[in-house]
Amino acid sequence: MTSHQVSFEAIRSQFPVLAHNTRQGTAGPQPLVYLDSAATSQKPQAVIDAMSRFLERDYGTVHRGAYELSVRSSQRYEEARGKAISLVTANPTGLQAVFTRGTTDSLNILAHGLSEAFITPESRIVTTVAEHHANLVPWQQEALRKDCELAYIPLRGKQGSSLALNLEKAKSLISKNTRVVTLAHVGNVLGQINPLAEIIALAKNAGAIVVVDSAQSIASLDDDLFTLGADAVAYSLHKMYGPSGIGVLVARESLLKQIPPMSFGGGMIADVTLEGSTWADAPAKFEAGTPMIVEAMGLNAAVEWITAIGRRNIHTHAAALATRFREELSRIPGIEIYSPATGEETVISFRHTSMHAHDLATILDGDNIAMRAGHHCAWPLIRFLGVDALIRASFAAYSSTDDVERAIESIRKAVRLF
Ligand code: PMP
Repeated sequence: MTSHQVSFEAIRSQFPVLAHNTRQGTAGPQPLVYLDSAATSQKPQAVIDAMSRFLERDYGTVHRGAYELSVRSSQRYEEARGKAISLVTANPTGLQAVFTRGTTDSLNILAHGLSEAFITPESRIVTTVAEHHANLVPWQQEALRKDCELAYIPLRGKQGSSLALNLEKAKSLISKNTRVVTLAHVGNVLGQINPLAEIIALAKNAGAIVVVDSAQSIASLDDDLFTLGADAVAYSLHKMYGPSGIGVLVARESLLKQIPPMSFGGGMIADVTLEGSTWADAPAKFEAGTPMIVEAMGLNAAVEWITAIGRRNIHTHAAALATRFREELSRIPGIEIYSPATGEETVISFRHTSMHAHDLATILDGDNIAMRAGHHCAWPLIRFLGVDALIRASFAAYSSTDDVERAIESIRKAVRLF
């Protein structure tokens, strides 16, 4: 679909949760304003229906039965892998999709596996100060375990338009002993779009493996990450209109061959004797136990849904709303905005100089407006910015200009009251 063919009003009506959460306020009904899509997105009817229809009519285990229900489930579960890969590249040759519990799980599998296979005390792992804990703590643990260096690319500037990864510093940190470079495509706190092409070029030059945390970009950016040079990409379905409990690790088959699994049990073995075991090939090697079968059907539906609308269209819509929100916000006394202002962000993080972010979030909730406040699972970034907490508004396919107006009105009211 081209952007002019997309009716975002019609898209909004596909999200039943929005209709089910109107509150009675003193001045009349207050529909839900959901501005926490960076934490998790709401689900369209198509995804809800695909999962409940599967449970009603088709549910069976995968890869374990000769009977029809199991064969059918297995086929659809395997089909989901191709769909999962299609979101991160147009060229699936030599790639595998492993189903995981989410981005966190995917990154843990990678950190553990890459560390086992490639990291020595002489190695350096490079990430950034702006990562979600999910792309920081697993590498920190591996750096401690292997006694190797973990280096962080800092930010240039702390607020607004000057805020971006410091590429000069990246150049000096990504050098010949760098084994892994891992970073988010889009930051979960500030919504900055990181210069992936530049960082990947530096990493490739140094012979490093590139891991991309796509949790915040998968719902709205459609860059071909493997053509850009990524070796592994992690994302969660719950942030892209799909179900919680399932994520994806797409990686080069050659890489997955070299890394060991970290979870053991049924489904991931080639053979087991009382003395020892051997592993199946990827992706099965990384999927011990009965997998997320119903959630994989939700993945199929979510990928179809998002692809039909077009992620660039969703991005244009969400970024326009975020930009409008930012402009209105900047006129409110005492507000400090931390997200960059390129017009491409779909997330705006801010705070009030004399009102705690949690207090503001609580006042907003009183007006039926959902926004997240706190450290956003990114303590090092919050410390780098020199604040104790930020409040974040994040926009998605179902967001509307009404949402922007209601949120701004409520923030103005809170500032007046305070
Ligand atoms: N990375 C980023 C950039 C995120 O925003 C998140 C979720 N907030 C994660 C990783 C972790 O994702 P999950 O909780 O789905 O595992």
